[in-house]
Amino acid sequence: MNPAFSVCVYCGSRPGAKPEYAQVATAVGHWIGSHGGQLVYGGGKGGLMGIVAQATLQAGGRVVGVIPQALVEMEAANHDCTELHIVASMHERKHMMAERADVFLALPGGIGTFEELFEVWTWRQLGYHDKPIGVLNVANYYDPLLAFLKATVEQQFLGDWQMELIQTGSEVLPLLAELVQAAGLTPLARLDAI
Ligand code: AMP
Repeated sequence: MNPAFSVCVYCGSRPGAKPEYAQVATAVGHWIGSHGGQLVYGGGKGGLMGIVAQATLQAGGRVVGVIPQALVEMEAANHDCTELHIVASMHERKHMMAERADVFLALPGGIGTFEELFEVWTWRQLGYHDKPIGVLNVANYYDPLLAFLKATVEQQFLGDWQMELIQTGSEVLPLLAELVQAAGLTPLARLDAI
């Protein structure tokens, strides 16, 4: 059966300092799997990436991992993925992840996560795609970034309309449901998995 929706999750290849980060990664994977969804992600086993993938699989969801050949060992490719694509380059990885997604969601992470988030946001402002983008602000992790972005609006380097192209929230359920609905898709209620 085709998945009801496909969420591309960008997140840390490390677990981060607070237990809330892993808890939320588990909750995101669980929500995706238990609503008939598919996770698209970077295909690694470590950190929040591995946690979100495992939780999706455990809840009965599909997981599409996309990892460049050069990172297969460095990032410990996750061979438990429903589909694991080993691609030639980072560009190919990002392209395939974006293609396979209906919505994008950033969890806490490092520069890899930031780069991916800013890229899909930039592409959206340019009209290359119109897929919803969310930022899950777990334990106030993204507060300083959001404050900085607000300052860039005040300094007139960014418009309000650009800020409106990303949806931010601190809770998994409303944010994911909002993103999936904004993509015109309907999460399934898989009662057996809830
Ligand atoms: P990080 O947030 O730095 O822990 O990285 C999270 C994921 O982003 C890892 O799988 C990295 O391989 C990946 N990543 C790092 N740099 C890039 C990049 N330039 N484009 C796409 N993904 C990247």
